[in-house]
Amino acid sequence: MEATIAITEAEHKKTKPDPETLQFGKTFTDHMFTMEYTEEKGWIYPEIKPYAPVEIDPAAMVFHYSQSVFEGLKAYKGPEGDIILFRPEENFKRMNRSNRRLRIPPINEELVLDYLRQLLELEKDWVPSAEGTSLYIRPFVIATEPSLQVAPARSYKFLIILSPVGSYYPEGIHPVSIMVEDHFTRAARGGTGTAKTGGNYSSGYTAQSKASSEGHAQVLWLDGVEKKYIEEVGSMNVFFKIDGEIVTPELNDSILEGITRKSVIELLEYWNIPVVEKRITMQEILKAYDEGRLEEAFGSGTAAVISPIGELHWKEHTLIVNGRDTGETTKSLYQTLTSIQTGKEDDPFNWTTKIKL
Ligand SMILES: *Cc1c(COP(=O)(O)O)cnc(C)c1O
Repeated sequence: MEATIAITEAEHKKTKPDPETLQFGKTFTDHMFTMEYTEEKGWIYPEIKPYAPVEIDPAAMVFHYSQSVFEGLKAYKGPEGDIILFRPEENFKRMNRSNRRLRIPPINEELVLDYLRQLLELEKDWVPSAEGTSLYIRPFVIATEPSLQVAPARSYKFLIILSPVGSYYPEGIHPVSIMVEDHFTRAARGGTGTAKTGGNYSSGYTAQSKASSEGHAQVLWLDGVEKKYIEEVGSMNVFFKIDGEIVTPELNDSILEGITRKSVIELLEYWNIPVVEKRITMQEILKAYDEGRLEEAFGSGTAAVISPIGELHWKEHTLIVNGRDTGETTKSLYQTLTSIQTGKEDDPFNWTTKIKL
């Protein structure tokens, strides 16, 4: 599908940052994509234009009631200089699931993917090629109708901005310490946990600050009702290896369905490594640990791809996983996924979309 859009090129191009010093999400490229939604006309005025502040009415509903959704994916520079995307259609599918939950009108997934392709073609020189680097893609929708009514807006803006990011592991992949959160809740069943919507993240800051101040990298979230069942770590899905079997919390109407999570499950099945989605209690993890059966633990998500867990802190318990070393399965998953994403390895699943330049 080739979609027609208005393109205005930036007169002055920014100097590209040094990939060594890049911080996540702090630098943006020369252009962005925008389109508008009105009740009468649907999604209109798709355009690529110079990256710049957007003018929004102070009464815009997004500022007051957080009606917004976002996505996150990465573009990598392939060995032949092409741009590689990892399962981008899954991101726009999920964006529409988030849209539905927040009463935001759906986007045309194929069209938007083509808009993204055109934006990336224009910004191709912004896709870094150093080991571990990528161009982070942030599509998002905000409610723009000026109104203080507590109701879905009648107008919206969809944008895509791009940010070159450095390696998540400049010193190589290494396990982190995790604090199991016993009080604060990320999401509850029937809530918005399954949607990528802004409010879910700012509501986690208090717990994250507490964890950080105690020297932990991330929070492990338990279920919102009983504080018993494991849900996610930070903004990642979570996996454990117990007795050679990989287990991950089953989707329960509060966990965010990660595309990396789905890919990890599919890859493990392809390797004939047993993988099970089920309810897992923190008590079960502690019991497995005490019996010496907890072999590995890791998080999965677009930013880190795979993030090994070296320590879990829960109440008075400290669980040291695999002697704080990255486990074999964790390592293989990281290696294979990143090799497929960067085009270094064959993609037997057809997960990647290549943009030839
Ligand atoms: C985005 C996200 C994930 C990971 O999803 P990916 O598609 O793998 O990047 C997991 N949990 C939460 C809460 C998220 O927002």
